[in-house]
This record gives sequence, structure tokens and C-alpha cells, in this order.
Amino acid sequence: MNKTELEKYKAMLLAKQAELSRGLHNREDIAIQKTPDALDEVQLAGERELAIRNLDRETNLLRNVRGALARIADGSYGVCLHCEEDIKTKRLDAVPWAAYCIRCQEAADRHEFEAVESLDELLANAA
Ligand SMILES: [Zn+2]
Repeated sequence: MNKTELEKYKAMLLAKQAELSRGLHNREDIAIQKTPDALDEVQLAGERELAIRNLDRETNLLRNVRGALARIADGSYGVCLHCEEDIKTKRLDAVPWAAYCIRCQEAADRHEFEAVESLDELLANAA
């Protein structure tokens, strides 16, 4: 991958990281909202559940984005973490934080191997 491409993905990842960080921050405000009204309480509980689910997904996504930025920094970006083949730029254009090529991602989705997204996750699993 050439420097121009790398800069392009880095800019995409940084923008995504900023967007996710902002979103996660706003969600914290929703989560601590309280109301004396029982009906609102039910609705808020539902919203909270949805917010938590989104939070989970966005936290994971943020971890993947940070992992990709770390791989740009250490020069391993764009290479599949599993089979070490180059990840197609078409895939990176759509999913710049992709850690695996399509083939390995599908295998990971079928749990054919344990997908490790980042060092963070390795450390979390070891703890
Ligand atoms: Zn692969």
C-alpha cells in the first residue's frame, strides 16, 4: 500500500474515531436521565437498553478503529491478521478498520478461529 492510500485510510479512521468518541459521550447523558413518571420510566428503560446495545457496538467499533490506527502506525495496516494476505482496497474503502480479509472474516464469523481484534482484547482475555 502506498503512502497516499495509507493517508486516506488514516483520515477516514481518525474521522470515525472522532465521531464514535462524540457519540459515546452523548450516550452517557441519556443513560443517567431520570423521571418521576412511571410511563416515561418504562420508555426510558427501553431507550436505555437500546442505548446500551448501541454503546456495546460502538465501543467495539471504536476498539477496531483504534486497532487499525495502531496498525497504520506500526506498518502492518492492510494485511489480514489471520492469513497475512493483503486485504483488498475495495474492502478497506467500505470498512477501513477491517482486520481480516473477506475470507478470514467469514471464517471468524463462523467461529472457525478465535478472532482477536486488537492487543487490548488480547490483554483483556488474558486478565
Ligand atoms: Zn485472511
